[in-house]
Amino acid sequence: MSVTTQKIPQAQNYIGGNFNELNGHQTMEVISPLDGATLSKVPLSTATDLDAAVKAAKAAFPAWSELTSKDRVQILYKYRTLVEQNLAELAHLVHVENGKTIGEATAEVLKSIELTEFACSIPQLVQGEIMEVSKGVECRIDKKPIGVVACISPFNFPHMVPHWTVPNALALGNCVILKPSETVPLSAVRMAEMLQEAGLPDGVFNVVNGAKETVEAICDHPDITAVSFVGSTHVAKIVYKRATSNLKRCVALGGAKNHLIVLPDAHLEMTATNVAASMSGCAGQRCMAAAAMVGVGDVDHIVNRLCEVAKTIVPGDNLGSVISQAAKERIEAYITEAEAAGAKVLVDGRNANVAGKEGGFYVGATVIDYVTPDMKIAKEEVFGPVIAIIRAKNIDEAIAIENASNYGNAAAVFTQSGRHARYIMERASAGMIGVNIGVPVPREPFGFGGWNDSKFGVGDITGKSSIEFWTQPKKTTMKWNPEAFTNWMS
Ligand code: NAD
Repeated sequence: MSVTTQKIPQAQNYIGGNFNELNGHQTMEVISPLDGATLSKVPLSTATDLDAAVKAAKAAFPAWSELTSKDRVQILYKYRTLVEQNLAELAHLVHVENGKTIGEATAEVLKSIELTEFACSIPQLVQGEIMEVSKGVECRIDKKPIGVVACISPFNFPHMVPHWTVPNALALGNCVILKPSETVPLSAVRMAEMLQEAGLPDGVFNVVNGAKETVEAICDHPDITAVSFVGSTHVAKIVYKRATSNLKRCVALGGAKNHLIVLPDAHLEMTATNVAASMSGCAGQRCMAAAAMVGVGDVDHIVNRLCEVAKTIVPGDNLGSVISQAAKERIEAYITEAEAAGAKVLVDGRNANVAGKEGGFYVGATVIDYVTPDMKIAKEEVFGPVIAIIRAKNIDEAIAIENASNYGNAAAVFTQSGRHARYIMERASAGMIGVNIGVPVPREPFGFGGWNDSKFGVGDITGKSSIEFWTQPKKTTMKWNPEAFTNWMS
């Protein structure tokens, strides 16, 4: 299908294998941040809607969980092929609903494919364990699914973040309810359609749209055993507390404020382009984006080159939109406030306009120098294409600035000195560290997850760690030879 003539799916709940009309629901408009056009209406589901999805998932669970994981992943292999065959269409949908560029949206869907491939490999990773613990007595461990689980996702990766959790949870035998961000609910519709086309039985995967009320109903529902959440720290804390107080297991990923520590010996071109790409990619709306560059000593040559690169980043061309007018205003207010507090705006992305897309929400790449650690822009998550440069006298001062952040998703160091890189990577207080890499996302099979206020709960959300989250170990002790010696242990 040509991406220009492509039909935009309408946001609907998907429960028990059926798409439900919006009738009777409160709805919200889904707006394309590219130009402000209305794309769809999204239902704001109630606890009753959620309950219908939980009932459908519960009904599907016995048959789904009894399949072998090798059988279950056959459907995910087919699903992966469908995603690949429809890559351009899916990328266009992400572009339209989220506002990122087509290139970024394509990379997002390719990452969903990689995540699905990991899920397809799960049968090779969960073969369990067996050991002869006494003569003739064996203990075995099987990793069993935990039942009906829920995944709650944010606006910034409408396709990829649901793929952090859904394919793994399904491969491991769980039935899933996805609650996409109400701002970007359309990719989830295509996900449901493609999983159905791949042969997933009805009820195994469900989509329940909505906002706060729907999330609260998820946290409270007695038949949901586990909740994964990705979003802001404020909501991650609410969800983690509410889900765990209702005795569910929960992993809740929150916001970020990622520091890149740049030393004077860093490779000029690689560093400038990496910092620029990290702070402006996906319009800075990545939890792995560079938010602060801590320059150690004289890094003026790198700052100058960074500014030159930032000026080549053009809204509406190689820079997408931010998600909403409110986001644009929030980001610009951070810049204005920093300037008023004494910081120097070297490249100014405020008041960006894209010809022909005047209704869109654009902020240009922005470089602000001489930010001090006490400024609001140095402490809070801006979530826009903005880099705050903080100057440090030495490496220990730079580390102290990074360590003072409440967040701890990612941190990176740029240097050609292995000794300095190692010193910093050991001391940075973050779950994901980059050395000469601006967006240090661990690729599969390594897990994704931050520290501090960037993640609540045990383990990472993807990779091998997620296998523990989506399963419970069943330990069986067996003896078949009646002549075996019996002692108090077995
Ligand atoms: P958000 O917290 O506003 O929303 C996330 C989800 O929570 C949505 O599904 C939303 O419907 C729901 N929600 C919103 N308010 C709620 C409330 N009061 N009670 C219950 N549920 C509520 O986040 P967002 O704006 O969609 O996404 C951006 C944020 O997500 C940023 O802070 C970003 O850093 C973070 N993020 C983190 C990671 C990570 O891996 N740590 C990844 C992506 C995004």
